[in-house]
Amino acid sequence: MNDVALKKAWSDHSRLWENNVWVYPVISRRAGGLSIGVNLNLDKRCSFDCVYCQVDRTIPGPSAKIDIDRIDHEIEILIAEYEKNGLANFSNFKEVNSEQRRIKDISLSGDGESTLVPEFPLVCKRLREIQQRHSEYNLKLTLITNATQLEKPRVREGLRYLTEKNGEIWTKLDAGSEEWFQKINVTPYSLDKIQVGIEKTIVDFPICIQTLFCQVDSDIPSDKEINLYIDRVKRIYEKNPKNLMEVQLYGVIRHTARPRVFPLDKFFLESIAERIRKEIPAKVKVY
Ligand code: SF4
Repeated sequence: MNDVALKKAWSDHSRLWENNVWVYPVISRRAGGLSIGVNLNLDKRCSFDCVYCQVDRTIPGPSAKIDIDRIDHEIEILIAEYEKNGLANFSNFKEVNSEQRRIKDISLSGDGESTLVPEFPLVCKRLREIQQRHSEYNLKLTLITNATQLEKPRVREGLRYLTEKNGEIWTKLDAGSEEWFQKINVTPYSLDKIQVGIEKTIVDFPICIQTLFCQVDSDIPSDKEINLYIDRVKRIYEKNPKNLMEVQLYGVIRHTARPRVFPLDKFFLESIAERIRKEIPAKVKVY
């Protein structure tokens, strides 16, 4: 395997692909192969403004009404292309070996927060239909979310479709204290609200906690911050241990739209993972 090619493919999350508007392919470290991304936020609307976000919001995105038939069509185009040659012609994937290009999931992950879109439940329903249509691939359906909307009834309706068979919610939790949370995620929502949303969600749905730790200016998360964070993970786990599929710790590997955001040493992330493992018997992985 060519590591350089793989890293290049991981770091490239360009949402523009051929003539598709809503759907793009990406080699995903966390999915372990090819992920079909669905971007419901062409307008870049998000309820967070994370310092590490790769989306440049100084340039506004186009507003477009969600077109579910078009999304379906674009996914079909991508799967047809995959079936032809495993997307080997796609310039960024040329040097990635076929195992790393194996199709794994359809992921709601865009230039903003997917659950803000009113059509969210209908999109999830259609993704479930597509999953059934292509049952030979055993595609996982994933929602990447910042958890701000998880308590809303229409979002929960969507989650039911998404998790009916082989689906997961990958929710962000980047902090233990309100102070670090606002420094990293920058939002009118409070960390306690996010915590309640995740705790309620894990009762009914399988979730992964995704945590990005980074350095901002000269600040890194303190030991106290890490303890508070682990306490939050523990409280989520205790709500329904069997529904916590994984805790994923990761650092910045892509270009961030803002300057002065730096990756942390992998050793630092590994030490946090070890501390979580000592507290709860959950799967914890550093990406
Ligand atoms: S939640 Fe995601 S899309 Fe929104 S600002 Fe943060 S990283 Fe960007």
